[in-house]
Amino acid sequence: MFSGAETRSTAGFTNAANVVRLSANENPYGPSPMAIKAMTEAFSLSCRYPDDHADVLIDSLARINGVSRDQILIADGSGEILKLCAAAFTGPMSTATNRAVELAPRSRGGAMPAFVPGRGKMIVADPTFEAILNHARVNMAEVVKVPLNARFSHDVPKMLAAASEGLIYICNPNNPTASITPKNEMRELLGKAPRETIVLVDEAYHHYADSSDYESVIPLIKDHSNLIVARTFSKIFGMAGLRLGYCVAQPETIQRLRPHQTWDSVNIMAMVAAIASLNDPDQVTSGRRLNSETKRFALGELEAMGFKSIPSEANFIMIDLRRPVRPWLDGLRQRSVQVGRVFPALPNHMRVTIGKKPEMEAFLTAFRHAFLTVSVLNQASHFTVQPCL
Ligand code: PMP
Repeated sequence: MFSGAETRSTAGFTNAANVVRLSANENPYGPSPMAIKAMTEAFSLSCRYPDDHADVLIDSLARINGVSRDQILIADGSGEILKLCAAAFTGPMSTATNRAVELAPRSRGGAMPAFVPGRGKMIVADPTFEAILNHARVNMAEVVKVPLNARFSHDVPKMLAAASEGLIYICNPNNPTASITPKNEMRELLGKAPRETIVLVDEAYHHYADSSDYESVIPLIKDHSNLIVARTFSKIFGMAGLRLGYCVAQPETIQRLRPHQTWDSVNIMAMVAAIASLNDPDQVTSGRRLNSETKRFALGELEAMGFKSIPSEANFIMIDLRRPVRPWLDGLRQRSVQVGRVFPALPNHMRVTIGKKPEMEAFLTAFRHAFLTVSVLNQASHFTVQPCL
């Protein structure tokens, strides 16, 4: 049994100690030490609403991204950004009214704009990060899935052809394939998308991408009023449990999201941690370096066993097993190794988060074992279940 994982909690949540958790694309190195210090010092502020901290964080994010304050919306994880976008920009085409609905003013945090109910389809890749599909369905919107192309990039022409008002969701790098949609294709998409269709680009894994074919589209926001870019503190900043994400867009687009958001949805601990993390020069560089070193190690070992993966620009890999993944998942679980679930569009692939090196060694041991077990079972079935010719 694996013994290299840290005991994660002092409050009775010790079950993680013996489990190798490579299932949720988390950052195994944790938050910046500066974030932990800032949170420790901020406990006594927990009785206050976080307005001042929100101002400081929004200032930092605006400066880092080269935009103005009114182009940033912070949220309870980037998952909340996806939900807000689905609520604001998708819905049944039959929506009777597109008259603006007046809203009560807020006591803090600026004026609340009137809102117009969302209309239009949600266009997504298959497979992709699926949370937003459900948000669109809850909004009674039609969801159109467009398979990734042969390079595991978004199929831009087909996604454009399917769009009608609503929203095109692009996850770049994409979860679960770890693949990118190249910058020229992203530019083509933004150049051709109708203005009344929103393009939401989810850059949760931005910091891990190092292909020269990849670029963030944040600098293109100034030219596209229909572009929204989502970012998270859950990945390179190691703050998945704290819940903080944000988006960047033109001010009018941000205003269209605000009516759908819970007031003060981001907690003060996440904010102080984020502000401190952004001031830590090592968090991003060392996170990227450790991830690529360990990824190279794991991919090398897998290749030596004869397994290829989709080229990865993220903190996880998608291994081509050339046979159904499901039996392997049980084998790994028995050895206390958790990896990604079955993705129906790619049932022969296994998604594995890049953990620390000892975690990857534990995974590789369990993987070799699962490989032998599955091979033996296949051979056995080959002898017992003869096809009827
Ligand atoms: N987008 C993508 C592509 C993700 O993989 C995830 C979570 N794994 C999220 C958004 C949500 O992240 P969070 O809410 O933690 O910011």
